Amino acid sequence: MNRHVDTAAVHAGKLAIPSNAGSSPALFQASSYEFSGLDEIEAVYAGTEGGAIYGRYGGPNTRQFEAAVAALETAPAAVGAASGMAAIDAALEPFLRQGAAIVATREIYGGTFDLFERDYRERGFEIEYVDQQDPAAIASALRRHARPLLYVEALTNPLVRVADLPALAELAHAARAVLVVDATFASPVLVRPLTLGADLVVHSVGKYIGGHGDVGAGVLAGSTEYVERARAYLVRTGATMPHFEAWLALRGLRTLALRMDRHCENAATVAAFLARSGNVRDVHHPSLPTHPEQALAGRLYPRGTGGMVAFSIGGGAPQVDTFLRGLRTIAIVHSLGEVATTISYPAVSSHRPLSRSQRHALGVEDGTLRLSVGIEHAGDIIADLELGFARLSEAASAQ
Ligand code: PLP
Repeated sequence: MNRHVDTAAVHAGKLAIPSNAGSSPALFQASSYEFSGLDEIEAVYAGTEGGAIYGRYGGPNTRQFEAAVAALETAPAAVGAASGMAAIDAALEPFLRQGAAIVATREIYGGTFDLFERDYRERGFEIEYVDQQDPAAIASALRRHARPLLYVEALTNPLVRVADLPALAELAHAARAVLVVDATFASPVLVRPLTLGADLVVHSVGKYIGGHGDVGAGVLAGSTEYVERARAYLVRTGATMPHFEAWLALRGLRTLALRMDRHCENAATVAAFLARSGNVRDVHHPSLPTHPEQALAGRLYPRGTGGMVAFSIGGGAPQVDTFLRGLRTIAIVHSLGEVATTISYPAVSSHRPLSRSQRHALGVEDGTLRLSVGIEHAGDIIADLELGFARLSEAASAQ
C-alpha cells in the first residue's frame, strides 16, 4: 500500500505476534487492544475468547503474572493490584458490607492498620485487634460479631512472630469467618497459606516476589468467585497492576526460590551472630532457640522463615542514628525483601502511624531495628553490622 509518510509514521512497522513463544516473557505495553469485529468484542467481554480489552482491565503480562502466582499459591485464581495496599483493600472489599467486622491480629503492618482505622472504621465497620498467640481471645472476638473476618500476617513485622495458620483457619471457619493472610514476609516459596486452610492470601509484590527494589505492586489469590469480585473492584477504582510491573514481577518470580533459600540461610547466620554478639538485646528470628515459635516455624516453614531479623540496640533514636551512620553497605530503606541487605527503624517507618505506647505494647522498642537480610555473602553483612556497633561504642566512650 502506498501511504503518505504521515500515515506510515503512525501505522508502519506493525508486527504480527509471533506464533512461537519467546524463551522469556514478552512485554506488552499496549494500553488498548484491537478487535476484528463485534463478535470478538462480545466473546472477549464474555471471557469465552482470550484477549485483552484496555489497559486498566489487565493485559497479557498481568494475566501471565496472575497465572504464575495462582500456580505457586495452589489457588484457583489470582489478581494483580497497583500495590500491596490495593490488594489488601480489594481482598476485603467484597466482604465489607453492612454488619461486617474485621478481627485483626495486633501486629499487622502500620499501613494496613491505617487503612483499617482511617477508612474502614470511619465507614462504620467494627475493627477489633487480638493477640495472634491467644486462640481463646481470637475465638471470643470472632464470636462477638455477626459477620467477622479474620486478618493476619503469616510472619509479623518487625518481630517475625509466626502465625499458626492451620489453628487460625480452624478458629475462623468455626465462626463462619473468612481467613485473609498477608504472606509478604514469607513469599509463596516459604509458605502457601491456602494449603494450610486460609481463604485468601495477599502479597506486597515489591518485596520478595519482585526482589530487586524496582516493583510497586500487589497480588491477591484465592477462590475464583472472590478473586473476580476483587478484580472488578480494582478495575472500577483503577487500582489494577500496570503491565510493566507485572513483567518485572514475573521476572522476579523466576528466581524467587533461589533467593528465598539464600535469604533464609543468611538471616539465620546473621541472627545467630547478633544473638551472641553482646551488643544487642532481644534478637528476633524464628531460627533462634529463644524465639517463642521456633517449633511451629519448623513445622510450617520447612525451608526457613525468610530474611527479616529484628533486634534492639537499647537506648533510642540518638543511639539508633549513631549505629546507622556507622554502616557502610547496609542502606536505610523503608522496604524489604530486596537482594541487598537493608535496614529500617520501625518507629519512624512501618510503625509511624502508631503511638509510642502502641508500639511498646507490640514489643517494638525505641531501639528496635529491622534488618532485611539480603543475598550477599553473610560475612560481609556481619562485618558491616560490626562497623555500626563499633561506632556505637566509640560514641559511648566519648561521652
Ligand atoms: N503488607 C506488608 C507486610 C508490608 O510490609 C507492606 C509494605 O511494606 C504492605 C503490606 C503494603 O504493600 P505496598 O507498599 O506494596 O502497598
